[in-house]
Amino acid sequence: MSVSSRDALRAALLYLLLSVLWLQFSGHLLSSFFDESNDLARWQLINGYVWALLSAALIFIARGRLLRLLGADAWLLHQREDRERLRQAAAVFDCTREGVLVSDRRGQIVHVNRAFIEITGYQREEVLGRQPSMFKSGHHTADFYQAMFDSLNTTGEWSGEIWNRRKCGEIYPQWQTIRAIRDDDGQLSHYVAVFSDISAIKDSEHELAHLAHHDPLTDLPNRLLFTDRAEQALASAQIHKRGCALLMVDLDHFKMINDSLGHNVGDRLLKAVAQRLQGMFGPGITLARLGGDEFAVLVESCGQPGQAAVLAQRIIDGVKQPFLMDENQLFINASIGISLFPSDALSAEQLLRNADTALFKAKSAGRDSYALYTEELTAHAQQRVEIAFELRRALEQQELRVFYQPVHDLASSRLVGVEALVRWEHPQRGLVSPGEFIPIAERTGLIAEIDAWVMQQACRQMCQWQAAGMELSFVAVNVSSRLFARRELYQQVAQVLHDTGLDPAYLELEVTESAVMEDPEVALEQMHRLRELGLRLAIDDFGTGYSSLLRLKRLPVQKLKIDQGFVAGLPWDEDDAAISRVIIALAQSMGMQVHAEGIEQVEQARFLLDQGCDLGQGYWFGRPVPAAQLEWGRAPQIH
Ligand code: C2E
Ligand code: MG
Ligand code: MG
Repeated sequence: MSVSSRDALRAALLYLLLSVLWLQFSGHLLSSFFDESNDLARWQLINGYVWALLSAALIFIARGRLLRLLGADAWLLHQREDRERLRQAAAVFDCTREGVLVSDRRGQIVHVNRAFIEITGYQREEVLGRQPSMFKSGHHTADFYQAMFDSLNTTGEWSGEIWNRRKCGEIYPQWQTIRAIRDDDGQLSHYVAVFSDISAIKDSEHELAHLAHHDPLTDLPNRLLFTDRAEQALASAQIHKRGCALLMVDLDHFKMINDSLGHNVGDRLLKAVAQRLQGMFGPGITLARLGGDEFAVLVESCGQPGQAAVLAQRIIDGVKQPFLMDENQLFINASIGISLFPSDALSAEQLLRNADTALFKAKSAGRDSYALYTEELTAHAQQRVEIAFELRRALEQQELRVFYQPVHDLASSRLVGVEALVRWEHPQRGLVSPGEFIPIAERTGLIAEIDAWVMQQACRQMCQWQAAGMELSFVAVNVSSRLFARRELYQQVAQVLHDTGLDPAYLELEVTESAVMEDPEVALEQMHRLRELGLRLAIDDFGTGYSSLLRLKRLPVQKLKIDQGFVAGLPWDEDDAAISRVIIALAQSMGMQVHAEGIEQVEQARFLLDQGCDLGQGYWFGRPVPAAQLEWGRAPQIH
């Protein structure tokens, strides 16, 4: 029986008892008045009992009223309101769009609502009795959860953004409020978590942020984002001691296209330019549209002004290619201003301003070109870029030449060998020395082709000399340090020897000391492989590369070439004299030949000979010349 019916019954019994007592009393009163008429009194008594029973039944039925009469109505009312509230709460719990999760004090889930099921994808029975940690996304650190529990323990509440995982595995953001519920004694009884799925809000936030940071036409970063990225790149470059470059690209006479062909075509052209430029850059380069026909390029790692200039030229050439629009070809040129970090500016804003100034210079100089912010650099960089571009043509059009410089035996003055040295016969500039173009060829990767070509020419020439009966012990060929570490070198040399048919014993490869010391282990392996081919190895420019003697001893090398820097001061400069002496002694102790280069005076040759140097090369013996001009025979006697 429920509490309310028990109380109603109790109230009815009480009423009944009172009625019976009253009837007893009234019956007694009546019987004392009507002593003889006992029948009447008895009838009245029965009648009274029946009435009392009837009214008790009525009272039981209408117990609410009775209880109210007896003062229990407040309690009943309270109960009804409670039930009403519960019904409302249950309706809210189930109808709310927010997900609700109730867990007990140990964290076990005891209730979830309908929205919870819709948002998470889990059914009620899949989560009841389990811990909310089952929804963890792995998006947050342990510190995040610790801070959440700290807040719940101290303030009884936590709210914030949290990333959880749906049943399907998708990770999504929630805005969640968790409250710790305590009972009347203040003991923790439950946790109630109310959350909403904010992925839609996030998406639109994302979209807004994208719109705020990107150019709607090309979808490239806009000035705001570009400046931000540039600031970050500069900060990182500062730490890593790197250079950066900012290129401001402006399309020449773009206004004419807009005016003559309409804005629609103009917009499409801008899009096409953006796409083409984007396709030209790899990681580490950011392209942005600053507005109108102005683009900006940020190069996060740019060590040399020449590097930025090469990129600028690539952009200019790339934009120059026709754009196909409705079967019509559109032609456009670009001008570029370059500003460098840290030499020109230290902040992104300043870098942009300087690039703009440089752009103005490029435009004033006739457009379709680039200019660096620092004027002297422009000329220098332009020259280097020109060389880089022309060098390829030089190879194709056979503008390269090989000159040979004689090498003499110091004791007998006999010509014993030659060093092959490359030259560039430039149609306008005349003979260009390798010092000017070899470093550029190394940077652009053309060096492999150049060295292979020189080696081929030198070996072929040596075969011709041999066929003509000229006696030479060796032809020396320089190998770039860029190629020395590469595995292909072995194949390349073997191929040349095979193609030309030269006996490998007559070929000497010169490797600089610094190339060997860059990675001594790789060098050692490479040298052993090359030696297997049967050729000879020499270390060029010896004395400048801080060789470790121990390493030197292990190298399969037949010759040390004393760098001409130490020969220049001989025999009067004491330091040069001492160094030359040490190198000669060192080579002898290791059973290597010593070869001095840069001998311009007989005194130098004499000193070297006296110290035990074997071979000599330099202007005193003869300059590098084309093969046909090589002088055969003995040089003048040194002593
Ligand atoms: P290197 O291998 O040390 O060549 C010697 C350089 O000294 C040559 O300069 C030569 O002309 C110069 N020289 C010779 N005798 C004298 C002299 O008495 N006085 C002075 N002042 N200089 C003298 P060159 O031909 O300009 O070559 C410079 C460097 O370029 C070479 O130094 C070599 O490292 C590199 N090189 C030359 N040809 C090639 C090549 O085909 N491939 C590669 N990778 N490098 C090359
Ligand atoms: Mg050399
Ligand atoms: Mg040298």
